[in-house]
Amino acid sequence: MTELSRRALLAGTAALAVAPPALASAPKAGTQVPGFYRYKVGDYELTQLSDGAATFPMPEHFITNRSKERAIQEAERLYLAPAGKITVPFSPVLINTGSKLILIDTGYGPNIGPFVGHLPANLRAAGVTPEQIDTVIISHVHPDHTNGLHNKDGSLTYPNAEIIIPDVDWAFWMDKSNAAKAKTPLTKAYFANDFKTLTDLRNAGARERVSTYAAGREVAPGITSIATPGHTPGHRSFAVASGNARIFIQSDVTNIPAFFLDHPDWHVMYDHDPMLAQATRHKFYDMAAAEKATVVGYHFPFPCVGHIEKAGSGYRLIPTAWSYAL
Ligand SMILES: [Zn+2]
Repeated sequence: MTELSRRALLAGTAALAVAPPALASAPKAGTQVPGFYRYKVGDYELTQLSDGAATFPMPEHFITNRSKERAIQEAERLYLAPAGKITVPFSPVLINTGSKLILIDTGYGPNIGPFVGHLPANLRAAGVTPEQIDTVIISHVHPDHTNGLHNKDGSLTYPNAEIIIPDVDWAFWMDKSNAAKAKTPLTKAYFANDFKTLTDLRNAGARERVSTYAAGREVAPGITSIATPGHTPGHRSFAVASGNARIFIQSDVTNIPAFFLDHPDWHVMYDHDPMLAQATRHKFYDMAAAEKATVVGYHFPFPCVGHIEKAGSGYRLIPTAWSYAL
């Protein structure tokens, strides 16, 4: 049997050696395919849209309460990226209620680099133009969620949309006395970026269409904002309900789930109030696990949809399989 297999294998190899290189003339694309994924929640149609993903060397204090070595060790154990690096995806959500097109978060915009800023292209690939968006809901004021509000020339990316921003975040990032207390370069950069984004928004001729929203309110039909503070003071998640179906859009309750579901008490460098963010994580995932709810995460592996269950002293993500059934 072994001999026969070996002979067959050798014959196959010989055949390959004389076969023409059939694929040699096929040019490689060298670029990624469009990133969008569609699914239903009751009567609503949701589309996960990729703005891109950044791979970068593990920052010195990515996990602020663990060493860099420990963070790299865990990243390698989880096959997160090539040695010493980490990959973070960015994925806004489009909700079609049947009468409104609602976009939650806008990605990094066009000014950062080649691996992000792809939301408008992926939106078009999914059959929707930026001009068609009725409402943009911002989950929290951080560059990877808000900078896509503007095009490269400063004009509004979604020119016909009402834009709503968490009230607490608007007040916090616009307050110069808060900015004066910023200690780390990252927090200082956030204040500079966020002040500019919100000021530009106010000055972009859209003043009448820009407003703030509170937690615990229905901010659009079937979409209720949930206070999930810590990552930023006014950080919001959302419950999206249609008919008997309900899902949670967590926004940034965790950064990449492989780290922070397994280790909900690890603190990512981007959290403004790490202890509050940690308490929010436990509260939010205990609720989601008890409800067996579908959870969508902005920094989850694409297409960013799954369930959370308790595992050991933390949690784990069970990704939803890609499906063609709508
Ligand atoms: Zn984020």
